[in-house]
Amino acid sequence: MKVDETSPDGTLPEAILQAWEARGVGRRDFIKYCTALAATLALPPALIPRLAAAMEADNRPPVIWLEFQGCTGDTEALLRANQPTVAELILDRLSVEYHETIMAAAGAQAEEAKWAAVEKYKGQYIAVVEGSIPAGDGGVYCCVGGDSALNIVRKVCGNAAATIAVGNCASFGGIPAAAPNPTGAISVQQAVPGATVINLPGCPLNADNLTATIVHYLTFGRLPAVDGLNRPFFAYGKRIHDNCERRSHFDAGQYAEAFGDDGHRRGHCLYKLGCKGPETFHNCPTVRYNEGQSWPVMAGHGCIGCAEPHFWDTMTPFYRRLPAVPGFGVEATADKIGLGLAAATALAFGAHGVASAFRKGDAMESDKVKKEE
Ligand code: SF4
Repeated sequence: MKVDETSPDGTLPEAILQAWEARGVGRRDFIKYCTALAATLALPPALIPRLAAAMEADNRPPVIWLEFQGCTGDTEALLRANQPTVAELILDRLSVEYHETIMAAAGAQAEEAKWAAVEKYKGQYIAVVEGSIPAGDGGVYCCVGGDSALNIVRKVCGNAAATIAVGNCASFGGIPAAAPNPTGAISVQQAVPGATVINLPGCPLNADNLTATIVHYLTFGRLPAVDGLNRPFFAYGKRIHDNCERRSHFDAGQYAEAFGDDGHRRGHCLYKLGCKGPETFHNCPTVRYNEGQSWPVMAGHGCIGCAEPHFWDTMTPFYRRLPAVPGFGVEATADKIGLGLAAATALAFGAHGVASAFRKGDAMESDKVKKEE
């Protein structure tokens, strides 16, 4: 479909709106979706028609979705997204050649479809990988169709135009790679070092970030800019703590001391209950889950750091406060809050007994004693 791809105010061409209406997606919903997508990618409104046009273009790449050592949470997240459903975007607007969990074919037929797609679209398709890859003992711990995950991921991702690793397992090894890592689980990037891989960690993947990554690729012909861990800046450029709705309570020194207490019910900061938001980079507070309805901290549970490498080993115990938050440097670099406010917050910390958390070595024990009392 030929459309005018620029519009100063982001107005979408009538032809595109009608095309989506014909698919059962109302124009208001589609405009809302495109606006949110542009906001997620930090793009100006003038580019909204270009994003929409990319979703309509005829040169959409095929997708091969692989699943290895994972819980299927990322596929579940994908299937629960809507307006318009990401599943619709992926399954209808893109050509999904292979997805074990949701494809109609099974067994030998499915395997044939996968390898036929790899051959036919060599260098053109997008590979999406869910789950970690067991590399121990020659890869025997996860086999599909008689071949090891290690071989499959090397062949599929090695021939892809780009690979998107979804969830912490595919991005960093996740829970399967936690000590003692009996299967020798590794990430996609470790399994296929030469491949172009972008990581979308988090348990589960936030489907809006997957859509935004794919639409960025369709629109600009390249993956979004990434940080040192190959995570896109648009989604992982800020700490949870930077945009958290409980942040004003953190700054004011107002903390929930126990689940269900008055502070917890009033929406106070969950730092003392173990929140790892100050050390976790993800856009959970702004994009949220379940159609943007909520996210863990909003629902009253501290962040467990699931978007970070080795979170199961480094962020546990989940219900104990961070032992070594780098003091107010966190705030100084993240939000550039004034020294005055930092000093006031330090006083508040002292008043609430949080200051001890910053004293090296004694934080965990002091918490333990307090809880046991
Ligand atoms: S410590 Fe956690 S709950 Fe408190 S403001 Fe930071 S991210 Fe939010």
